[in-house]
Amino acid sequence: MNARLLQKIAREHGTPVVVIDHEIIRRNYASFRRHLPKVQVYYAVKANPAPEIIRTLYQVGASFDVASLPEFMLVYENIKRLPPKDRQQFIWDKIVYANPIKPKETLQALDRYKPLVTFDNRAELDKIRRYAPRAGLALRLRVPNTGSMVELSSKFGCDPGEAVDLIQEAFGCGLVVEAISFHVGSQCTNFDNFVQALNMAAAVMQEAAQRGYEIKILDIGGGFPVPYDRHVKPLSQLARKINAEIARLFPSDLQILAEPGRYLVATAAAAVATVIGKAVRDGKTCYYIDDSVYHTYSGIIFDHCQYTLKAFKKGKTEICAVFGQTCDGLDTISHAQELPELDIGDLVYAENIGAYSSASSTWFNGFPPAKLVHIHQ
Ligand SMILES: *Cc1c(COP(=O)(O)O)cnc(C)c1O
Repeated sequence: MNARLLQKIAREHGTPVVVIDHEIIRRNYASFRRHLPKVQVYYAVKANPAPEIIRTLYQVGASFDVASLPEFMLVYENIKRLPPKDRQQFIWDKIVYANPIKPKETLQALDRYKPLVTFDNRAELDKIRRYAPRAGLALRLRVPNTGSMVELSSKFGCDPGEAVDLIQEAFGCGLVVEAISFHVGSQCTNFDNFVQALNMAAAVMQEAAQRGYEIKILDIGGGFPVPYDRHVKPLSQLARKINAEIARLFPSDLQILAEPGRYLVATAAAAVATVIGKAVRDGKTCYYIDDSVYHTYSGIIFDHCQYTLKAFKKGKTEICAVFGQTCDGLDTISHAQELPELDIGDLVYAENIGAYSSASSTWFNGFPPAKLVHIHQ
């Protein structure tokens, strides 16, 4: 993002501030569609739930993946207000509820919307039958998450060996399994995870078809990697593999959707903070900034993500430490950043901080979340 513009916004709005560039979101969406033209995009709202982002993505044609009732309502309310293009098929075309575990109160509240919801076990099936009988189902498979930055396979997904029995049970109690879904783990740089998952999904679909259950939708989940550093292979390379497997394994009329979160928003935001303190400890310069791991830098904790801090100032750099504004020792942004000599009041910024960042900001120590400024909306 343009450094001068970031500085200008920081001066105008104060810090900490997160600048979200909607032109980049649209570009990421277009790139996803270009590389995976057969795949409908359901943006995973938890990556960044700003309503402005939901509206921008809706306007370019995206649908949404939600994981809680509040997220469902956030999407519903924001896209309901926009000009109706397709109200009829509204919910399934626009929202998948992709958290396999749902409180029964949530199911009760969702039922009237006839939602598409995921499940991966019998107890959930029983809850859905009782509390949301009008829901359509997507069965979440457990697939390899090897090498992904955030691993999900120990928490979610039915064993592929049980999948067809679960499908049969769902149909047996009057529900309809519309889709097979999986998630290869977030920031998946091991593309073989996708290849294996697609093969597992194909095998489940074939066996289900043999028992007379035709499944019409394949949901290939999220995990599409962001180029945080130059070692990450580009989406084009992953897409080639996915497209080839899809062509090889599935009938051409299968409806395919994906739930990218990170890929659409990570590169679209930069966070600007002010240096509020400075000390030398054990010979190393330590800077303290007015943001923290409890705020915009929460991804350091929850997302296993490291951000590179940059200064607007030029000059010879040295290795220093950067800490957040709170009193907690955990609140360490980096033990080793290359920065020029900074003074109190100077600004620093981090790019590629649009996903799993402000989304999990807290009010810890009484410090409010950073202000969000949207540009090119
Ligand atoms: C978090 C999540 C996503 C988004 O994952 P990314 O790695 O950010 O693309 C998609 N689907 C489900 C079910 C998720 O839990």
